[in-house]
Amino acid sequence: MARRLLNLLTALSLVLCVAVIALWMRSHWRSDRIAYVAPTWTVSLGSKSGSMRLSFATTTATTSKVGWRVTSAPFDPDAVELDGSPYEAFGYTDYTFSARGDTARIRLLRMPHWSATLQLLLLPFGVVIRMRRSSSRIRRGLCSACGCDLRATRDRCPECAAENRAIISN
Ligand SMILES: [Zn+2]
Repeated sequence: MARRLLNLLTALSLVLCVAVIALWMRSHWRSDRIAYVAPTWTVSLGSKSGSMRLSFATTTATTSKVGWRVTSAPFDPDAVELDGSPYEAFGYTDYTFSARGDTARIRLLRMPHWSATLQLLLLPFGVVIRMRRSSSRIRRGLCSACGCDLRATRDRCPECAAENRAIISN
């Protein structure tokens, strides 16, 4: 059960990793964004110029155009972050502005695509390391789970009760 869940999470990580890399490449000429708009707030996930961005915005004015919004626009290379920082940097911005009696507050969390890619590779990398260690133990006649010597054992591992998968040559 736990193993199946780990396999599922590993597969999901790999799929997300490929998606993030594709977005990363694309982010140098397209700015993409998916958002959910509620009457007085909007939550969105975006990608532009090597930067992934999660934002939460609130407004004092209300909108009736509620729902999901997916937008894509050419990326403007001259554009800068509202707080002046480079796009491809980690960051958190909280800014408030007013226009025509409406006050909006935007909280924006930025993370470079490369960082998301590395994080998504951690789990698959860990699984590969563990598989290599396990098969090396089986080859050497050891318990694949704990490394206990099983060359004199036919049944389960006396240490951890794992199934004996060791290759017994004699
Ligand atoms: Zn064991």
